[in-house]
Amino acid sequence: MQKILVSGCLYGDRCKYDASDNEVRDELFQRWKKEGRLVPICPEEEGGLKTPREAAEIKGGCGADVLAGKAKVFGVEGTDCTEAFIEGAKKVLKKAKSEGFKIVLLKERSPSCGTNNIYDGTFTSTKIKGSGVCSYLLQSNGLFVYSEEELEMVAEMLEVLEEK
Ligand code: SF4
Repeated sequence: MQKILVSGCLYGDRCKYDASDNEVRDELFQRWKKEGRLVPICPEEEGGLKTPREAAEIKGGCGADVLAGKAKVFGVEGTDCTEAFIEGAKKVLKKAKSEGFKIVLLKERSPSCGTNNIYDGTFTSTKIKGSGVCSYLLQSNGLFVYSEEELEMVAEMLEVLEEK
């Protein structure tokens, strides 16, 4: 069975900055969960951040820019969290590679997990195109990364990989 590495908060773990979750109730997602296909992980906790913690956003760009040293991640109270975000992303990549994951399903708009959109660093709920730090690192290392808004695409990829 092809397993899927998934954002802990989507799985139902209370690992969000405010110690809540973003559990996906969609039937497809819940079926994968029951099958034991989903493996939860939280990049921010992997990077050593505590829960609850400050809400954070990337200032000056997207995850690619953070990894290139051109942008940083700040908490809403001004704490520089950049190193923890990079460390967490690297740990998730290491797990994904060492355990043979091919598909990753991440929480849209998060500064770690956002895949198509993130917030712009102004804490005004303004979205911009781009990926979070972990999502970008996984994408650029060949993983198939999707958001919880793309479950049908995940299902199609599962079919392709399991036919091989
Ligand atoms: S880092 Fe990812 S898994 Fe952790 S709370 Fe944020 S969105 Fe969820």
